Amino acid sequence: MHKIQKLLVANRGEIALRVMRSAREMGVATVAVYSEADRNALHTRFADEAVCIGPPASSESYLRIDKIIAAAKQTNADAIHPGYGFLSENKEFASKIREAGLIFIGPSPEAIEIMGSKLAAKEAVAKFNVPLVPGTSEPISDITKAKKVAKEIGYPILIKASAGGGGKGMRVVEEEASFEEQMDRAISEAKSAFGDGSVFIEKYVSSPRHVEFQIFGDQAGNIVHLFERECSIQRRHQKVIEEAPSAILTPELRASMGEAAINVARSCGYYGAGTVEFIMDEKMNFYFLEMNTRLQVEHPVTEEITGLDLVKLQIKIAQGEEIPFKQEDLHIHGHAIEVRVYAEDPANNFLPDIGTLQTYIRPQGHGIRVDDGFEQGMAIPFYYDPMIAKLICHAESREDAIEKMIRAIDDYEITGIETTLGFCRFVMEHEAFRSGHFDTKFAEKYFTPEVLQTKPNEVEQQLAGVLAVTLLEQAKTKMTISASSNGQNKWKKNRL
Ligand code: ADP
Ligand code: ADP
Ligand code: MG
Repeated sequence: MHKIQKLLVANRGEIALRVMRSAREMGVATVAVYSEADRNALHTRFADEAVCIGPPASSESYLRIDKIIAAAKQTNADAIHPGYGFLSENKEFASKIREAGLIFIGPSPEAIEIMGSKLAAKEAVAKFNVPLVPGTSEPISDITKAKKVAKEIGYPILIKASAGGGGKGMRVVEEEASFEEQMDRAISEAKSAFGDGSVFIEKYVSSPRHVEFQIFGDQAGNIVHLFERECSIQRRHQKVIEEAPSAILTPELRASMGEAAINVARSCGYYGAGTVEFIMDEKMNFYFLEMNTRLQVEHPVTEEITGLDLVKLQIKIAQGEEIPFKQEDLHIHGHAIEVRVYAEDPANNFLPDIGTLQTYIRPQGHGIRVDDGFEQGMAIPFYYDPMIAKLICHAESREDAIEKMIRAIDDYEITGIETTLGFCRFVMEHEAFRSGHFDTKFAEKYFTPEVLQTKPNEVEQQLAGVLAVTLLEQAKTKMTISASSNGQNKWKKNRL
């Protein structure tokens, strides 16, 4: 066992801070790496030491394996945590860290390689009897053959990039007539976005729900699951709201999905934190989608319901410690919901809305957690992912967590940019979400920009507020004017 002394965090924003906080609590020194755009970022300031690794573009900084390893050597760090995104699922990064004699906080390069390819992952898990979405098991090379397979599976189908991620590299094909055109586009998109043109076909599951399991393995071969997260509220195939536990799983289904998730991890000799994603159809049949070989954006909801610190657990496992509990020791406590606060305009197709945080006031109180990387007055750099913060609420029941979330959203004050908060509030109040009867089509089905427009009673309230302020100001003016001996209206002048 090697006790980690100094940890370099190869990431930025909220996740870099989140990792460093746990490291500090464990007595581990921290090193930040930052790009020129992040010179004054919170993660740069929080760390014990910080090393600039290049210009703002990710390709010249946060994606530079050589510079990050050099920064670790220069500062005598003995381990590297990759966070999520960037190099977190890069096999070469994990291997080079190992070759440099450092500890990678994550699984083996071999496991990253298998699970990094959706096709290789399916092949590996099929041997463990994990249910798969009907589809092709090899990259498509012959369009005529593929068309035949698509017909057998039945439309609509989904064309997916094997190397895809972050909701990118997916195309739904509704009917045979558009098959070839969509296939050509999918291949060229996959090549340009992921440098790998391999695509495959999956049946498009109707009314799909995204339910994933948090798993943990150690280097002695123990594997446990930390229950599920429901992540069906999405836009552009990417999550915006996540919760734990799911509103629809029965204890039996939870047990069988948990077992399938553990088998997925077993199929690639997994250790560290990982997430096994499943898609579930209307009849609650579940199918393996992919495994993410890193800490997930939405890991806080799992921390809230289990009371565990997943980053500390990752560090302990990387040091060679065994998981300090058994499956049967774990229990679900209450209910947690996370909303992702993106600098995006929900009224304009959720397009990024980059700018300066003119007002930024976080909600507070019992059961509320905000994981963020910004402060009031800071600009959101356009080089990176536009996520500003994650707002997490934990309460005894799902209903209480929803009410808490609405209160927290109302207390969250952000001006200067548009955010996804209004959309998230709309979801919290929606009957489909409240009842638990929703799927990944929620935003498409129910959301229109009009719902964000101020409601009539709110307009009235605002008008009443304006009127009160005006009356007060008039009264003040009178007072100031009457107090001014030479008759000059100083108050007005000062106000200008
Ligand atoms: P999660 O899977 O953890 O719920 P996301 O799907 O939103 O979260 O992805 C996590 C982060 O990783 C985001 O910052 C996203 O932009 C980034 N990301 C995920 N996959 C890729 C990829 N293949 N290429 C580039 N960025 C990615
Ligand atoms: P990524 O690597 O981009 O996260 P995933 O395979 O995890 O890709 O899929 C992301 C999302 O796309 C899912 O959460 C779901 O909303 C949708 N999706 C993926 N596969 C299917 C499918 N076969 N049928 C319906 N929806 C799907
Ligand atoms: Mg996914």
